[in-house]
Amino acid sequence: MPISREVHLITRPNGMPQEREFEIVETNVPDAADGQVLVQNLYMSVDPAMRPRLTAGQALNEAMMGGALGRVVQSKSPDFAVGDLVTNRLGFREYFVSDPKGLSKLTPAEGLPLTVHMHALGMTGFTAYGGLLFIGAMKEGEQVFVSTAAGAVGSIAAQIAKIRGGYVVGSTGSDDKAAWLRDEIGLDAVINYKTQPIRQALEEATPKGIDVYFENVGGEHLEAALRRMNTLGRIAVCGMISGYNEGQAPVRNLSNIIYSRVMLRGFVGTDFMHLQPDFQRDMAGWLREGKIKYQETVMDGITSAPKALIGLLEGANSGKMLVKLAE
Ligand code: NAP
Repeated sequence: MPISREVHLITRPNGMPQEREFEIVETNVPDAADGQVLVQNLYMSVDPAMRPRLTAGQALNEAMMGGALGRVVQSKSPDFAVGDLVTNRLGFREYFVSDPKGLSKLTPAEGLPLTVHMHALGMTGFTAYGGLLFIGAMKEGEQVFVSTAAGAVGSIAAQIAKIRGGYVVGSTGSDDKAAWLRDEIGLDAVINYKTQPIRQALEEATPKGIDVYFENVGGEHLEAALRRMNTLGRIAVCGMISGYNEGQAPVRNLSNIIYSRVMLRGFVGTDFMHLQPDFQRDMAGWLREGKIKYQETVMDGITSAPKALIGLLEGANSGKMLVKLAE
């Protein structure tokens, strides 16, 4: 019977979360009963969507909701064998016992690192793929703007837009990330929104306007993009991270969607599950061919999870933020 450590929220944050609002708690994990499996998590996924749940939705003093990739270490279920890899959303913890509901068996892609299933080849990449091509309906050669372009979702969306022949502008919050986007990814223009006013910088970076805005930020970014949208442009609203700690800044020119006949649509990754086979084929191919690059920021051990979440909200990550729990 292993001892497991798990991450609890003990106080709701006001603004940027603080490490003292979390606690690492030890629990005894029982053996798997008939029909159940015991899973050891290997990697946990740190996601911006966790922040709004800290304000409402996440229960206090229990394992925090969160996604992970684990390995079955004991099985009394006919559906799973010891050694099977499983993705789950059963919380930030080292071990857990579960019935098979909520577990998805993972067959690792040949020739690719396991962790790509937690970003480029997982729901992160799928969100970028469907958000850009299905919700944003990007067509070959269009003008595209992607915010948080060096992040997990944004970096994939920006690269797919390049593969589709787009003129692609990305925004990010540091010179290092901007250099990666320019030099490694080959974006056509990159804006560091912390050193350049986004409104003016976006105007200069988009001489032909914007056909598709892949929106991850909200607030001033959305306002700046709305000024540049071309007629019949599309804004695929994936996230609005600028408002997750403090609430959204007002967007004062929303009426531009009327004059430019812009479609503005929010989405979640499960809105286009019919694209999964296409996505798996395309993304695995692009990764193997080196057409899609990625970065990971990996923090070590469950005690680093609060720091990882705070770091994500502060922009400390390049690419996907993960917490590694075991080999
Ligand atoms: P990420 O981009 O890898 O990490 C978050 C990044 O957001 C930080 O690194 C930081 O990068 C940026 N950021 C933080 N505060 C900001 C602010 N006030 N203004 C501008 N940028 C800020 O995270 P991700 O998982 O890929 O998520 C990106 C977006 O997609 C989020 O809005 C998230 O909620 C959304 N999302 C939506 C879905 C869906 O199904 N709809 C699924 C996954 C993610 P900088 O250094 O660039 O500031």
